[in-house]
Amino acid sequence: MRRVVIKIGSSTLVRDGKVDAVFVGHLAAECANLMHDEDVQPIIVSSGSIALGLEVLGMHGDRPDDMPTLQAAASIGQVGLIRQYTDTFACFGVTVGQILMTRATTGQRESYLHARDTIERLLELGVVPIINENDTVAVEEIRFGDNDTLSAIVASIVNADVLMILTDIDGVYDKNPKAYPDAKRLSVIEKIDDEVRAMAGGAGSARGTGGMATKIRAAEIAGRANIPAYILSGEDPENLYRIFDGEDIGTVFMP
Ligand code: GLU
Repeated sequence: MRRVVIKIGSSTLVRDGKVDAVFVGHLAAECANLMHDEDVQPIIVSSGSIALGLEVLGMHGDRPDDMPTLQAAASIGQVGLIRQYTDTFACFGVTVGQILMTRATTGQRESYLHARDTIERLLELGVVPIINENDTVAVEEIRFGDNDTLSAIVASIVNADVLMILTDIDGVYDKNPKAYPDAKRLSVIEKIDDEVRAMAGGAGSARGTGGMATKIRAAEIAGRANIPAYILSGEDPENLYRIFDGEDIGTVFMP
């Protein structure tokens, strides 16, 4: 069995304020295929609760910056988010389970072990865990703040074989691909140094809470746990399968 943590950002999942049902359908199909054909155990870290909740509340403009409103939005949005995952994955015969955690969950040994045991049991039962930050209870000191970091921490908790961060750019480029047509995608990054950080920072950064900087940090955290991390376009969830087929897509950070 190979364990794959798949991180899905709001910019990949939410379209016009709604869950992109076509995307979730493709994702569910890919996960079901990977489970059956490749002996893969997918673990999903999904954002989207705040974006969806704000839409339900009719707050379409700039994102509010006060925590209680964002937490209220997360409380509303998480329900619809998980419903969409539950119903769609069920169409492919796959059961999902929800896990919400904060930095306090992983910072205290006891709750860390409980979270790990629950995820382990879900995987044994053939269930796909869908993990998000518990935004409603997380105050500043115990927030991950962005799901890129959370996904890397989850990858180390479950001792994943690989972390795949799906986003709105198909990898890291040597210069901004929007400004330079000759920009080249980097297939493999052996070592994260200041040069890589600078390159990624200027390379038409991904949208979403974190941008490219938090993705590089996530790759660093995963790397320390000896886990390779891919940055891939989420436009086509079949990309997950292509990685297993050995296709040269996205950017992989070697541990
Ligand atoms: N936990 C937040 C949400 O579900 C997202 C954080 C992030 O996208 O990095 O909306």
